[in-house]
Amino acid sequence: MKIVVKFGGSSLASAKQFKKVADIIRADKARRYVVPSAPGKRNDKDEKVTDLLYQCYDAASQGKSYKKILDKIRDRYEEIIDGLHLNVNLDHEFQTIEENFVAGLGREYAASRGEYLNGILMANYLGIPFIDAAEVVFFDEHGNFLSEETNEELSERLAHVERAVIPGFYGSGRDGKIHTFSRGGSDITGSIVARAIHADLYENWTDVSGFLVADPRIVDNPEVIETVTYKELRELSYMGASVLHEDAIFPVRKEGIPIHIRNTNRPEDKGTLIVENTCRKPRHIITGIAGKKGFCSMYIEKAMMNSEVGFGRKVLGVLEDQGISFEHMPSGIDTMTVFIHQTEFVAHEQQVIAGIHRAVAPDFIDLESDLALVAVVGRGMKGNRGTAARVFAALAHARINIKMIDQGSSESNIIVGIRNDDFEDAIRAIYDVFVTSEI
Ligand code: ASP
Repeated sequence: MKIVVKFGGSSLASAKQFKKVADIIRADKARRYVVPSAPGKRNDKDEKVTDLLYQCYDAASQGKSYKKILDKIRDRYEEIIDGLHLNVNLDHEFQTIEENFVAGLGREYAASRGEYLNGILMANYLGIPFIDAAEVVFFDEHGNFLSEETNEELSERLAHVERAVIPGFYGSGRDGKIHTFSRGGSDITGSIVARAIHADLYENWTDVSGFLVADPRIVDNPEVIETVTYKELRELSYMGASVLHEDAIFPVRKEGIPIHIRNTNRPEDKGTLIVENTCRKPRHIITGIAGKKGFCSMYIEKAMMNSEVGFGRKVLGVLEDQGISFEHMPSGIDTMTVFIHQTEFVAHEQQVIAGIHRAVAPDFIDLESDLALVAVVGRGMKGNRGTAARVFAALAHARINIKMIDQGSSESNIIVGIRNDDFEDAIRAIYDVFVTSEI
């Protein structure tokens, strides 16, 4: 059995957290490859080392004073070294970092040092080899991740090492520079390592006990989702639920490796298992509820629209020309409505309206702003009667007007459009019907 374990920033924010992490790793011999993030926040007021590195680099590369921030960064690592009584001296590393910052080696190089240094400390603490991600994770000269080259090199390299620490978030480019993934990208490194070694499991350790059925800022103490499929997760993440970097799914999905989200501070909790497919019945008909505010709708009416071939394509062509992506497009007999991100739309509003007049000569266009979308997601909904009825009844009882309804034939989600102001109440109402009232 081979497990890849990735630990997030808050799991590695201090010596105390490092100890918990080491206990977790030692508790199961199969936990062989460790992917650390940079030290994160120790409390709400604290700063992430990655953020400090960006600040420090910006100052140093622009000739401004940076020493104080660099000292702050160094202190974070020294606290860990002292607390764990490690025999590591980072003088040389920090000297190189400082020189490279002043020389302007790049923001991505700067940010990557957080994981790099934490990786060195972690390897030292665990007494296992350190493999610099720059040697095994590759990007092209534009910073696009090279998945196949990386997979080849990493599999080859790890075939000869029983255990190792590989820092997350960065790799090296064809241009010889260090590149990083987008923020939160250590999740992706963990997934890449899991794929390369054909892991049985990718454990992603963080500071929450898994994915929650609904946003805890809206619903009090929401239940944890025990098992979620990649597809459900994609839908929930797209609609705003965030625990894992969105791109972390792709490498393991190719290999059918499950991801287990666990809580470093509560290792006894079950967490959430993310799988390709499962026969495990979800506890409730729905798996999760997520949503986003900030949409607007454009309603277009034209007599005999239904028989005009190419109408929809022409409308969407106008949006495409303005670089706007659409979210949903419900249609009636002689009407269609397009849901779009408000900020994207507002910037090009008048060009879009003029473009639609030119393209399809509509009778009437109406715009509505400040809308929200709520997605009710669940594999359990397929082939089951009454889910839509319960969603709509819940909203009706909460006195919420539904502006749009969208359910694909996969039956794995129902999306409703409502007013921004109703967003929180809608989520609570749906949660109550499907979860609270079933407990
Ligand atoms: N340290 C990086 C960040 O703060 C990457 C990560 O933690 O995954 O975004």
